[in-house]
Amino acid sequence: MTSLFEYAPAPESRSIVDIRPSYGLFIDGEFVDGTGTPLKTVNPATEEVLSEVATAHEDDVDRAVRAARRAFVKTWGPMRPADRGKYLFRIARLLQERAREFAVLETLDNGKPIRESRDVDVPLAAAHFFYHAGWADKLEHAGLGPAPRPLGVAGQVIPWNFPLLMLAWKVAPALATGNTVVLKPAETTPLTALLFAEICQQADLPPGVVNIVTGAGETGRAVISHPDVDKVAFTGSTEVGRSIARAVAGTEKRLTLELGGKAANIVFDDAPIDQAVEGIVRGIFFNQGHVCCAGSRLLVQESVHDDVVASLQRRIGTLRVGDPMDKNTDLGAINSAEQLARIRELTAFGETEGATCWQPDGDLPDRGFWFKPTVFTDVSPAHRIARDEVFGPVLSVMTFRTPDEAVAKANNTTYGLSAGIWSEKGSRILKVTDQLRAGVVWANTFNEFDPTSPFGGYKQSGYGREGGRQGLAAYLRSDS
Ligand code: NAP
Ligand code: MG
Repeated sequence: MTSLFEYAPAPESRSIVDIRPSYGLFIDGEFVDGTGTPLKTVNPATEEVLSEVATAHEDDVDRAVRAARRAFVKTWGPMRPADRGKYLFRIARLLQERAREFAVLETLDNGKPIRESRDVDVPLAAAHFFYHAGWADKLEHAGLGPAPRPLGVAGQVIPWNFPLLMLAWKVAPALATGNTVVLKPAETTPLTALLFAEICQQADLPPGVVNIVTGAGETGRAVISHPDVDKVAFTGSTEVGRSIARAVAGTEKRLTLELGGKAANIVFDDAPIDQAVEGIVRGIFFNQGHVCCAGSRLLVQESVHDDVVASLQRRIGTLRVGDPMDKNTDLGAINSAEQLARIRELTAFGETEGATCWQPDGDLPDRGFWFKPTVFTDVSPAHRIARDEVFGPVLSVMTFRTPDEAVAKANNTTYGLSAGIWSEKGSRILKVTDQLRAGVVWANTFNEFDPTSPFGGYKQSGYGREGGRQGLAAYLRSDS
């Protein structure tokens, strides 16, 4: 690979965070021991053990739910909405004040580039708290009835790809609407949720309003199936989402699911190619492709296919893969050995099924979990790499001739979370957007997020919306 510039290393310092050798569960405002065997969380870029984290068993989850119930009945539920809003504003400001600490910790525990945790994850997490703080005393104007009421205790389970940001997406609307929370972070990325617990203490949030129970899938199952949980919110795989839907069926619990995706990123022949190439790169390589709304299926109009692929390969040749703590890094580490194995398995299918695999030259670090940015051409819609969510830096390129064919191919998926369109024609963008069965459609951009904009899927990408006015509905009862 010929690179245009050689960059000297520019590592962020890790001295700003103080990682404790072990962490407890956060229940009723305090860190307490868990009864399960503690789990070790590692830095996926080095395989170094960062800390030991308690595991919550059913009994611990029960303690957390009881604390959340008490807080709902005694403090948080009866509190004046404007006062709840003040706590949310305080949390948002503390997230901003300690932003660098959160960014470094997220990068160490998750493997994502510091540039992304610093510029995207942490500022957006703070923005979610600011946005929802503003709603706390205005809920009767949200179009959800004259006096919407909270549901009670929310049990929330989140994945490892955006650990702090997914926490914010879950916790901020729950608290703003007057609910209390028991949240389970992912097994491989618990540390920023535990630092968030410290923020709750620093903000003097009443005990029990936010409880954090760490552990693996079993802990998640205990949270969602606890009989005193009123609302379940889950982000993760479609497979686990399905099992949660089954567990919740027939109960009074309300449920929102944000599951996988296989988004089409559609490039028409009138699109400015360089701009589209930047959007394609951002669509699939942002966060190593560990993004549910990643633009993992590139649909290119046949007449510009060769130009687009050539420009894309040139651009990918300039991406820096390596130390996530380096401020110049574009692609960091894959989050876990398990996820790396899954990416390898699916890409191997790509080759045996007859697609053509391309990767840039260059070496990967010796330790840690790594995968090169990868482009498959000659992909057919029947290939597994065109159907299954890889959840890694792997792009499948297909072609189309007419807008109708583009729409048919884009919609030919069991998912429906997001899509992208690249075209200079506004009318074409509006028409195609209308025909796409996807919760979010980006035009001439990709992977843009904002707390005011509702996010969620069609089909097997789940149901319910997060963010915006629509996201509040998931946490409110609008009957009288
Ligand atoms: P996952 O198993 O669905 O994990 C999501 C969360 O659910 C984690 O906190 C997980 O705990 C927990 N969990 C696992 N089994 C559970 C159960 N039976 N009941 C309740 N909670 C449970 O996802 P994953 O294993 O991390 O990733 C697998 C695949 O899911 C990925 O390759 C990707 O395709 C997809 N995925 C999608 C998203 C998204 O944003 N839509 C995010 C992550 C993954 P543990 O962490 O301990 O497993
Ligand atoms: Mg898992």
